[in-house]
Amino acid sequence: MSEIFEGGCFCGKVRYRMHGRPMFIHCCHCTDCQQQTGGAFAINALIETDRVEIVEGEPVAVVMNTDSGLPHDIYRCPECQTALWSDYGRRGWMLFVRVQTLERRAEFSPDVHIFTRSKVAWVGLPEGANVFENYYSSKAMWPAESVARRETARIKAGAKR
Ligand SMILES: [Zn+2]
Ligand SMILES: [Zn+2]
Repeated sequence: MSEIFEGGCFCGKVRYRMHGRPMFIHCCHCTDCQQQTGGAFAINALIETDRVEIVEGEPVAVVMNTDSGLPHDIYRCPECQTALWSDYGRRGWMLFVRVQTLERRAEFSPDVHIFTRSKVAWVGLPEGANVFENYYSSKAMWPAESVARRETARIKAGAKR
């Protein structure tokens, strides 16, 4: 049995459960995340889609354009518009859960800081943090167990990437 982490939107209309810990956590300092969140960065927990169970409500997808041309769907509460998770590239099998919508958000800290070339100057990063000016190699950074989980989910979904 996996550990269960409860989460939800600000108004409470959408509630979800994350089954188990994420495979990896990004703190993304890119300008898209800054503008879309209105904050200095976004904290995303990467987890298999089938480990996120919607308990109440129905998040709606808002399509964002990206530089890569691949769609980026942000799932929001239809009522309060809190962003709950993203599906980058519309993979369908992996979600980027917004860590701050989890009740136990304080337990999750970033494994990598990415796109720090656009990090706001007054945000300091902890000593020893894994910092990347742009993107990074997941093969080099992810623990073997997470790489295996990701591959299993991708193959199960019959996806190429
Ligand atoms: Zn809401
Ligand atoms: Zn970003």
